[in-house]
This record gives sequence, structure tokens and C-alpha cells, in this order.
Amino acid sequence: QTLAAAVTDGLEAIAALLASKEAELGDLDAVAGDGDHGIGMHKGSAAAARTARELLAQQAGAQTLLSGAGAAWSDAAGGTSGALWGALLTAVGGVLGDQAKGDDQAVSRALQAGLDAVVRLGGATVGDKTMVDALAPAVDAYLAASEPAKAKLDALAAAQRGAESTKDLVAKLGRARPLGERSLGTPDPGATSLVMVLEELASRI
Ligand code: ADP
Ligand code: MG
Ligand code: MG
Repeated sequence: QTLAAAVTDGLEAIAALLASKEAELGDLDAVAGDGDHGIGMHKGSAAAARTARELLAQQAGAQTLLSGAGAAWSDAAGGTSGALWGALLTAVGGVLGDQAKGDDQAVSRALQAGLDAVVRLGGATVGDKTMVDALAPAVDAYLAASEPAKAKLDALAAAQRGAESTKDLVAKLGRARPLGERSLGTPDPGATSLVMVLEELASRI
């Protein structure tokens, strides 16, 4: 299987997962935000998967495919997280390139590039109660793992702990900000959905 085909399969799995999580993520976002995180993630990932499948049929490589999928995610989802996920996918494509196979460093470089893109666009740091609270510790744990076999499990555990830690924070960025206090006790929706996506990916690589 080519890298581009594996990426397409991964995006379809993510879209199926997020379709099933739409209500849960919407409810989380309704606590202190505008309640659209579930629908945004569902629509965005569905459009990304559809676009990836079309580009794959036209023999696109992973980079071309992911930048098309990222643009589709951002357009279809709207909202802050849609723009951030679009940038993340495009950045991951940038490090994977259009060649047929990934290399040993592909996952760590992809994680790092995805985080960098989200931080560059959104300006969040750890503690702001966003998806960065799950993604940043996952990247750190992946890079710090003593053996390759442990890296993905360590990264997943760190992301889960990071998302859990957002329960104790007040949202400072994004649409949840005006009602930030209300978010105390509820995990951040974007951190929660990020963990869902990483769980799906970890089960596939
Ligand atoms: P919107 O806030 O536009 O309605 P969503 O509800 O889809 O968009 O996404 C909300 C999520 O986006 C938040 O839970 C948070 O994780 C993430 N988010 C919001 N602003 C930022 C930011 N500046 N940087 C990183 N993530 C952010
Ligand atoms: Mg929202
Ligand atoms: Mg919104």
C-alpha cells in the first residue's frame, strides 16, 4: 500500500469515528461554547476523506492529498477548529511529501509539524484549554520515548492526560472565552476530539 493510500484509509476511519462522536462533542462544546464542535468535526473530516479519495484516484501523493484534504476540512467545517485541523493536515502533508513510502521518522516529524501549524495559526500555549493541551504533550512523549515500540502508547497516554487536565482550566481562547468560567469541570472539546483521532490512528499504525 502506498503512503497516500494509507493516509486516505486513515482519513476515512477518522471521518467514521467523528460521525459517531458528533453528539458527544457537540454537548461538550455547548457547556461553555456554541455547541458546534461535533458537527464541525463531522463535516470537516467527512469532506477531507472524500477529497482524499478523489485525489488518490487521480494518483496524487500524500502531500498533494493532505493539502487538498486540509483545505476541504477547513471549508466544510468552518469555525476555529476547522481552520486549525485544515492547517494541521496540510502541514503533515508537507513533511510526508509526495513519495510513495514514509520513512522511520515520518510519524514524529508529522506530529511535530502538526503541532507547529496549530500553534502558529492559533497562538495557543499549554494551559489555555485548547487542543494544544493534548497535542503538545503527545508530541513531547513521542519524541522522548526510550524505544520506538513505546512511542505511540506513551504519546497516546500523554494526550489523554493532557485532555483530562483541561477539566481544571478556564477557557481563555476561542468562542468559549466569554463564558470561560462555565467550562470549569468540563474537558475542552477540541482536546477531547484530538485524543479520539489519536486513538484511532494509534490503532492503525
Ligand atoms: P468554534 O470555537 O469556532 O465554534 P469549534 O467549536 O469547532 O470552533 O472548536 C472549538 C475548539 O477549538 C476548542 O475546544 C479548542 O480546542 C479549539 N481552539 C479554539 N481556539 C483555539 C486556538 N487559538 N488554538 C488552538 N485551539 C483552539
Ligand atoms: Mg464551537
Ligand atoms: Mg462555532
